[in-house]
Amino acid sequence: MSAPSKATNARAVFLGAPGAGKGTQAKQASASAQLAHISTGDMLRHEVTLGTALGLQAKSFMDAGKLVPDAVIIGMVQERIRKPDAKSAWILDGFPRTLPQAEALDKSLSAASAVTHVIYFAVPEQVLFGRLTGRRTCSKCGAIWHVETKPTKLAGVCDLCGGSTVQRSDDHPEKISKRLEEYRTLTAPLLAYYKNRKLLREIDANRSPAVVFKELLELMQ
Ligand code: AMP
Repeated sequence: MSAPSKATNARAVFLGAPGAGKGTQAKQASASAQLAHISTGDMLRHEVTLGTALGLQAKSFMDAGKLVPDAVIIGMVQERIRKPDAKSAWILDGFPRTLPQAEALDKSLSAASAVTHVIYFAVPEQVLFGRLTGRRTCSKCGAIWHVETKPTKLAGVCDLCGGSTVQRSDDHPEKISKRLEEYRTLTAPLLAYYKNRKLLREIDANRSPAVVFKELLELMQ
């Protein structure tokens, strides 16, 4: 499915609780509309794998299901957004997640490069839990699967690239509870922040990814 041409200049923030489907939708939208996909979770996991100073700093927070401190994450995003592929169009997936992050983002963008869309993927909390505990991610290509709703043909093997699928360490029940609590207290206030700026659009994301994607493209026109 191709995106409408107007969407190619979008600078979009994807908001929603862990498990709301932001990553799945962002991957698809960025591929079809050629927007840089900036996922702070993916960037942090990459830093952890490389064992960089930033990765070491972030790891203990991620392992505990807590948000990484604003000072760490804001600098990382500001650097990423200045890269050539993110000059005019991007999707921020998982950032901002706190009010100070949202304010820092606004300050670092000029009027010509400001956020154009904020999409809130709404999913009831009891649904999120099931989505996260069953989620499996391909360690090679990053494709996202689910043991019940989107299983691979062969357990543990990615249908797309043959890589092994793994459960994220923070997708275990006790970590999920903490992540949802962090979302409720620190991230949910961003809905009012962006509503006041008349940027917020809500999608009922408790539906199939294909239906959600169709509506997403309409909203990003
Ligand atoms: P995600 O893949 O988006 O669910 O992020 C995984 C983890 O990375 C989160 O639970 C946080 O520990 C950390 N993280 C990702 N994005 C942010 C952010 N914007 N602010 C703080 N921590 C973040």
